[in-house]
Amino acid sequence: MPVPFADLQLQYQIIKGEIDGAIAAVIRDNAFIRGPYVDAFEREFASAVDIKHCISCANGTDALYLAMAALKVKPGDEVITTAHSWISTSAMITHAGATVVFCDTDGATFTIDPAAIEAAITPRTVGIIPVHLYGQPADMGAIMAIARKHKLWVIEDCAQAHLARYKGQQVGTFGVAATYSFYPGKNLGAMGDAGAVVTNDSALAEHMTMLARHGGLVKHQHRIEGINSRLDGMQAAILSAKLPHLPKWTKARRDAAMVYDAGLNQIEDVVVPSVAPDRTHVYHLYTIKHPRRDALAAQLNANGVQTAIDYPTALPFLAAYNRFGYRPEQFPNAFGDQSRILSLPMFAEITRQQQDAVIDLVRRF
Ligand SMILES: *Cc1c(COP(=O)(O)O)cnc(C)c1O
Repeated sequence: MPVPFADLQLQYQIIKGEIDGAIAAVIRDNAFIRGPYVDAFEREFASAVDIKHCISCANGTDALYLAMAALKVKPGDEVITTAHSWISTSAMITHAGATVVFCDTDGATFTIDPAAIEAAITPRTVGIIPVHLYGQPADMGAIMAIARKHKLWVIEDCAQAHLARYKGQQVGTFGVAATYSFYPGKNLGAMGDAGAVVTNDSALAEHMTMLARHGGLVKHQHRIEGINSRLDGMQAAILSAKLPHLPKWTKARRDAAMVYDAGLNQIEDVVVPSVAPDRTHVYHLYTIKHPRRDALAAQLNANGVQTAIDYPTALPFLAAYNRFGYRPEQFPNAFGDQSRILSLPMFAEITRQQQDAVIDLVRRF
């Protein structure tokens, strides 16, 4: 049985009427840039993630840039983030003008190790960007305590963690701002690029809005030099059509993860995702560890099961960071994981038969 890694076409077919209607409405109303569909999605998304302000933008990468630019990071400032993420997280620290400082993960949850943060703080540290990787919240209790103690800001990278919770509280509501991606494959995905930055701080919200809109809130009144980072009306309408389905889709992902857990956790050499007791994982990715990862992936792929490696190289070891000359022993968990991690097919519509086929292949391997 072929099992795709994700099935965006199937999701579209299930809600085709709603999506087609949303696209037709934007065309009918000529509401391509800004306008009522963008405003509506910003309101709806803010409410869905329990926060006051949502500023939509072009993608989740820009969202990180906007948050840091609004916090006025400057050359010499150090921003701490995790060694295990997508490159947007660290690259935007550099593009915003600061210096990226990597920390290792905790060895269990794939998220940043609070003890490593504490050890990385210097007089130049200004902020921390934890990433709720694969959909599991980072240890926000410990991270916020460190931030308060050292007077640092926290921006949460929620690109993989829509509706995830830490001790019952939604991710994205702990730090001063949080960023989201609506890349098509994310838990809430547009049909193109899309992103948002959210905050409860009204002054910061206004500043981020200006930065994203050529530096002004009113046309031709550019108070600062901004960038052009817009969510277009079509993507906003598509996201508004999908948003009401997100809680149900999230539950389906969590249920599918339980099926994988039960089927895989007795198999020798397979390490299923470890979820800390205080965290609600939303399984953007279901990522196992296996000592012979490449051979396992080859066997699954040869039998029609798509897999992915997120990510094959931990951030400090990418060519982009050769200038720092990092060594594996500085990031033992992130480095060790890069050769063991394997993401299995995971999407809201995955069937029991598809999951059984995956589990069976892993068992036979
Ligand atoms: C997807 C992602 C981003 C970037 O989002 P884009 O919309 O692709 O720019 C940033 N951080 C993490 C952790 C991501 O997974």
